[in-house]
Amino acid sequence: MSRFIARTVLVTGGGRGIGRATCLRLASEGAAVAVADRDIEPAREVVKEIAATGRTAVALQADVTQAQAVRTLVADAEKALGPLHILVNNAAATSATTIETTGEADWDVEFDVTLRAAYLCMKAVLPGMVERGKGTIVAIGSVNGRVYVGNPAYSAAKAGLVMWVKAMAVEYGPKGIRTNLVSPGSIRTENRSWTERMERDPQIFEKLARWYPVGRVGTPEDIAAAVAYLASDDASFVNGAELVVDGGLTAGMGPFVQEING
Ligand code: NDP
Repeated sequence: MSRFIARTVLVTGGGRGIGRATCLRLASEGAAVAVADRDIEPAREVVKEIAATGRTAVALQADVTQAQAVRTLVADAEKALGPLHILVNNAAATSATTIETTGEADWDVEFDVTLRAAYLCMKAVLPGMVERGKGTIVAIGSVNGRVYVGNPAYSAAKAGLVMWVKAMAVEYGPKGIRTNLVSPGSIRTENRSWTERMERDPQIFEKLARWYPVGRVGTPEDIAAAVAYLASDDASFVNGAELVVDGGLTAGMGPFVQEING
């Protein structure tokens, strides 16, 4: 497929995990990609991978919780690639697993990177997109924003992101900008949470598979495919949607069903 020929995209947290897979997927379909991350090295590695396929990409360093850094990031991305057609709001992190262990600093950090950074990035790309009357924004949510599965501050911030995306869809849809959300289930990445859980239990993903009606946890590529759909013209009538990509985890409670059916 080549749905993103002559399109430019900025992916936050593009150096690792789901962000990396999204950069590779969009580039494989023709996009010129600005790979943004807090740490420039992983972003540079992704740029190398993209360049090896003959596509265009640039690595940019930015902490997306900082307003000025985000404005500079968008300006630098547009300087390198031209006007941005697509924003993928992906960077996020969580560490506090329970309410008891959620200190004030954890709350602030998790809300900043999950929700405030999304607000900052969207606000930064909007003027250009509005001027051109065209743009597409995809935010990465989580099943944590739908049902409680731990990490309360992060979950509350992800739930807030769902409403922010709806607000964007309603206010900016008339200006030619579509905003949607992909909500992944457990995705096998090396993010901080999964690394800690893997250290405790190397079989964690295999154990979690029983909760997933499809019999496995997800891959970054599963999410990248959903992002690519929402960012593409295939989704030109999709605006303000939450696309849940969780193998059926939140469709019901499989182990509960097995229990009551005996
Ligand atoms: P990773 O940690 O693998 O990748 C996220 C990237 O974002 C990292 O490179 C990270 O840098 C970067 N980042 C973090 N904070 C900032 C910041 N302030 N500014 C710029 N970059 C930053 O995460 P995943 O790929 O697992 O997750 C990606 C998205 O998917 C997130 O929104 C997450 O909430 C969501 N998600 C993931 C799930 C999963 O099971 N993996 C499930 C549901 C949703 P650094 O490594 O330095 O922190």
